[in-house]
Amino acid sequence: MPTLYLINPDCSCPQYYGAEVVAEHTGTRLAAIADLAITTVAALARPYFEVRLADEGIAHADLSLRPDWVGLTGKVSQVPRMLELARHYRAHGSKVIMGGPFASMSPETVRPYCDVLIQGEMEEIGPELFRALAQGHPKSSYLGTRPGLELSPLPAWDLYPNAYGLVGSLQTSRGCPFECEFCDVIQYLGRKQRFKPVENVLAELDLLYRCGYRRVLLCDDNFTVNRGRAKELVSALADWNAVRPAGRVSFMTQGSIDVARDDELLRLMAEAGLNQIFVGVETPHQASLKETKKVQNVGLDLHERLQRIVAHGITVEAGCVVGFDSDPAEIFDIQRDFWMGSCVPNVKVSNLVALESTPLYARVQREGRLLDPSLVASSPWTANIQPLHHSRGEFEDRVRTLCDQLYEPEAFGDRLEQFASVVGQSYQPLQARPSQGPISEALKAWMRTFSKLRTLEPKLWKRTEDLVVRYPRSSSSLAMQLVQFMQQRAILRDNPTVLAVS
Ligand code: SF4
Repeated sequence: MPTLYLINPDCSCPQYYGAEVVAEHTGTRLAAIADLAITTVAALARPYFEVRLADEGIAHADLSLRPDWVGLTGKVSQVPRMLELARHYRAHGSKVIMGGPFASMSPETVRPYCDVLIQGEMEEIGPELFRALAQGHPKSSYLGTRPGLELSPLPAWDLYPNAYGLVGSLQTSRGCPFECEFCDVIQYLGRKQRFKPVENVLAELDLLYRCGYRRVLLCDDNFTVNRGRAKELVSALADWNAVRPAGRVSFMTQGSIDVARDDELLRLMAEAGLNQIFVGVETPHQASLKETKKVQNVGLDLHERLQRIVAHGITVEAGCVVGFDSDPAEIFDIQRDFWMGSCVPNVKVSNLVALESTPLYARVQREGRLLDPSLVASSPWTANIQPLHHSRGEFEDRVRTLCDQLYEPEAFGDRLEQFASVVGQSYQPLQARPSQGPISEALKAWMRTFSKLRTLEPKLWKRTEDLVVRYPRSSSSLAMQLVQFMQQRAILRDNPTVLAVS
């Protein structure tokens, strides 16, 4: 049987949802989120190939292997390594196939580096594609479709190093009906949402559970926007979770702020163990929200909406973006004050990026303000848009400084206190930790990292201990927030400012 080596390439700089801080403190490299892309493609390919996987979040790909085919996927932050791997394996006689979000949206960039290029989703074209590859006469490119998710196979988690995956991943839907100007998800996966049948979701969950995962990311583009479907699914998750013999599972996902309108959905989510959600808040500045067509956030009391979610026992992690043309000169102060007044400890601070294929990309290109796209992968705060009123370097430094201010231990502690006071009034989320099930190497390393905070940040540690005494039901949620704090501090330390910002 021919051989296929599927690789999830390393990112070129540390990511918000990375685990570099765990490796730094424990020497254990782990995947903060176990990779669903290579395990899904492996399931499609295995009838035709002997398949091996490498997730470079855990360990670098084996460069001494000489497979017939190497499969590479990735997002914009992975492109430099993706191209480096392609060059290496082609130079040593393997053929390379590329797909995934970046290859789909930026085909011209990757075309010179691969023998076969896949654009779009693979479920429907998988059998034809892998049969042709195995028989040695593939086309040079394939265009995927937007398949029904009942076609998505059970991922090949048996091939993945699960002991080093902290959080399992499972996708229950694709697409999002909103139309934010900067979003490439809707270009890649569409605005008409497609849903995986509930029984298929539960079958994938059974498999993740058998592999040892007790925390699972429902990696949908927008889990909550179709509230009827979300209620049906979380009710099924709650029933499933109620009869787990070896500890219950907790879930995290991504959604939009409109979820705060529906107390029933929030209650059902919390009851199912869905105790963390990422919400793209982006900015409190109304003109910037309108500019970027984030209509679902316009005209709301965003603090009140966030508080309503947290009050149900669901931690919010939020996106914060600066760099909109409508941002006023004082946007950095506005953003800092907004987040310091919120119950959101962890905020993903970003500079607005124009991803290829988005309306934003087309607009800034028309305006002559598009910079070298490869800049995007160089640091967490780098963008590829020429700001209207600043030099690029100065603007990036201001973004980094905003992040630094929000992650000063005292400032973070203040937000943690607001969070605990709100979430503490709610009921206890389900335990993320198994009561009897397997404790993976990833979880052990994560816990060792957490315990380092006692000596690294003694004041914040003490403050958190006091919060646990005052709000005992918030303890597990607080621990999750603190490791994310450590990751952000490590990213800041490793990415010093380029220019001095007064
Ligand atoms: S809500 Fe999120 S997924 Fe949906 S269009 Fe906006 S940025 Fe994209």
